Amino acid sequence: MQFIDLNAQQKRIREKIESNIKRVLDHKRFILGPEVEELEEKLANYVGTKYSIGVASGTDALLMALISYGIGPGDAVFTIPFTFIATAEVIRLLGATPVFVDIDAHTFNIDSKKLEDKIIRTQSTDLIPKGIIPVDLFGQPADYDEIKQIAQKYDLFVLEDGAQSFGASYKSKKACSLGDVSCTSFFPAKPLGAYGDGGMIFTDNIDIYENLVSIRVHGKGSNKYENKRIGVNGRIDTVQAAILLAKFSIFDEEINLRQGVAKKYSEKLKDSVNVPYVKDYNISAWAQYSVLHPERDKVLKKLKEKEIPSAIYYPKPLHLQEAFSSLGYKEGDFPVSERVSEKIFSLPFHPYLKKEDQERVIEAIVED
Ligand SMILES: *Cc1c(COP(=O)(O)O)cnc(C)c1O
Repeated sequence: MQFIDLNAQQKRIREKIESNIKRVLDHKRFILGPEVEELEEKLANYVGTKYSIGVASGTDALLMALISYGIGPGDAVFTIPFTFIATAEVIRLLGATPVFVDIDAHTFNIDSKKLEDKIIRTQSTDLIPKGIIPVDLFGQPADYDEIKQIAQKYDLFVLEDGAQSFGASYKSKKACSLGDVSCTSFFPAKPLGAYGDGGMIFTDNIDIYENLVSIRVHGKGSNKYENKRIGVNGRIDTVQAAILLAKFSIFDEEINLRQGVAKKYSEKLKDSVNVPYVKDYNISAWAQYSVLHPERDKVLKKLKEKEIPSAIYYPKPLHLQEAFSSLGYKEGDFPVSERVSEKIFSLPFHPYLKKEDQERVIEAIVED
């Protein structure tokens, strides 16, 4: 059994993937070829935004979005310490300051009740509050209605980190359309994964969109050798776009299959571990199926003995990482994130996880 098995999916659509790659080999437009635009159009339609721009990774998506807002030294951007490093890394990379807000104990997403207090407190420092990056952790969208209300009150942008939530929904709206700007990742293990790195940015704002088109190619103006601003090389490869087009054709079906696996896990495991809590108006994309157990090491050892793979997302919250030591945080600053990071682990999960394998995982956890 593999933690995330991409084999079954490849078997289903191998021919389509090969013919899509072959088309790129034939037309040879490896940089920003027609497949990139086709993918951008299809995915923007799917999530329901006016514009989208294919980029080199989820990290580049976040970075470029912050560049488009002109984020730099002296700016504060609010996010959670219980996420993948990329979310906060890009803030620091631009010289700005990530200001952490603790997570909700049940959803592991930003605690909107603690957010406003943090903004008010930041106002009385040297930092200028500029934006919020909510993360849709493990595939479940954050509380965007509450977050946007606060953002409006303090004139902040909302940048959705939807790296794990492509395919999810919030109150019937698709994830990756929930921020003023939204980002996702096509890292192979994400719900919609490529065979390499890739990402996408979504927005309804034409000014931001036009900015991003320029930032994606070294701040280009009307042509590549006229540079209006500082940008990056942030393009998605045509080959990856071609592969993603093949994968997208069965994506909705896979999101449904994910619901089935999660439902079965949750029904059978709810008395043995803390199973994921998904709000009734949310549909998760189930990038990870993560549970809590106070004696995590014991459970993980048992799984290992039975050759069942597992993983820990995330063993150390960002405020305690050496990379962010200059921010001056210490243990105890974000008690929920710290507590969760000590108890959490993720189970093997993908749309094609066989019934027998689901049973094996369940049995290993339930028996004591
Ligand atoms: C994966 C991930 C990213 C970064 O995406 P890459 O494509 O790997 O650069 C950013 N944020 C979160 C929450 C992620 O899970």
